[in-house]
Amino acid sequence: MSDDHAAHAIGAYGSRINTTPHLDRIAAGGVRLDNCFCTNSICAPSRATILSGTYSHRNGVLTLDDRFDGRMLTFPQLLQQAGYQTAIVGKWHLGHGGIHDPTGFDYWNVLPGQGAYYDPVLIEATGRTVHPGYATDVITDLSLEWLRRRDPARPFLLMCHHKAPHRPWEPDAKHAHLYEDVDIPEPPTLNDDYSDRGRAAAAARMRVDRDLTDRDLKGPAPDLPPEQLRAWKYQRYIKDYLRCVASVDDNVGRLLQYLDAEGLAEDTLVVYTSDQGFFLGDHGWYDKRFFYEESLRMPFLARYPREIPQGRTDARFALNVDFGPTFLDYAGLSVPPEMQGRSLRRVLRGEEEPNWQRSMYYRYFMHLAHHNVYAHYGVRTERYKLIYYYESQPEPQEWELFDLQSDPQELHNVYHDPGYAPVVAELRAELRRLRAEIGDGTNPFEGEG
Ligand code: CA
Repeated sequence: MSDDHAAHAIGAYGSRINTTPHLDRIAAGGVRLDNCFCTNSICAPSRATILSGTYSHRNGVLTLDDRFDGRMLTFPQLLQQAGYQTAIVGKWHLGHGGIHDPTGFDYWNVLPGQGAYYDPVLIEATGRTVHPGYATDVITDLSLEWLRRRDPARPFLLMCHHKAPHRPWEPDAKHAHLYEDVDIPEPPTLNDDYSDRGRAAAAARMRVDRDLTDRDLKGPAPDLPPEQLRAWKYQRYIKDYLRCVASVDDNVGRLLQYLDAEGLAEDTLVVYTSDQGFFLGDHGWYDKRFFYEESLRMPFLARYPREIPQGRTDARFALNVDFGPTFLDYAGLSVPPEMQGRSLRRVLRGEEEPNWQRSMYYRYFMHLAHHNVYAHYGVRTERYKLIYYYESQPEPQEWELFDLQSDPQELHNVYHDPGYAPVVAELRAELRRLRAEIGDGTNPFEGEG
């Protein structure tokens, strides 16, 4: 798993801006999920959801300030109890000390908070150590060392969690000059003016042309007219982002090489994902948080030659809440009732799964906390997305409806279009149904008191 790696910066997902040969190997040898979504597009909450198989309001990690309670049931704990050797290396971001240290792992060695790109400190049960080198290499080195010293007679779970390509996008020396002499294509919505949307989009402070700092851009911006300045900042931002991705891709290649060399590839389920998506200049933004497509969609590539046919793609919905149940299923364990997701195993294999989810619930809680993004929740179906900005300050509540078929870039809010009134009614009913099913009744739903 990486941090903030959007699917549209992966070759296998049809990237227009970079290549990722090693990640593409996973896709070619297995399956690419095209509608894998996070249920709350922010780091710590998505990680808590993945570990526990529960939504944010259930596991208590609603925001970046909430720490995970390690006494909660997680899939690594259950694998460990079933005889798996278990490890997590790299990004943790769920707190430290006492009940906040990782649980269910024979070995954990994790970055404090966001961690550093260069010479990172990592914390393990025995204390803190500075690891000279570049974080993505260090995390892979430690992962490989653990694999080499494991008991080969017993199965294993390794969670190799990269810090990259999280802000402030600091590449390593090896990739520092990648893309130096080329222009990266701009996304079609780089110059979005946020008209025809609710007020939240225009209020967000995560614009490439305005909100990136000198540290993000690795120096002051030149004096240019606004359009040119935006283009210049986009190039500075996206190149460093993609340089960080290139190192992740190389290091995924090292792990795949190890599995090949040890004869483990056939019998190992390999999953590549990221904790959420990211705006790569889309809508003029960097960062995530919004329920919009680029931030919502998680990459999900899975390879397991014994069971998953090669080169598949699947458009059925998969959610981060489903990951834990999926890993338990592959290990032959039953999914405990505390977990709210469902196993993706049959979906990954390409089989029919009766009554599979065709809508999903999303909620972002950090009202105004960072980047001035308004808290919101909503529902996405195969064709539509309904979003409700539910706080009444600093601006009144507001709805957005997007028709993803006619408006895949989500530029036109059709909530107030009379032609969509039946869709609005249907989706509001579906949103109520999902909130009841999932048990999120913690804010009044407009129209229900
Ligand atoms: Ca993240």
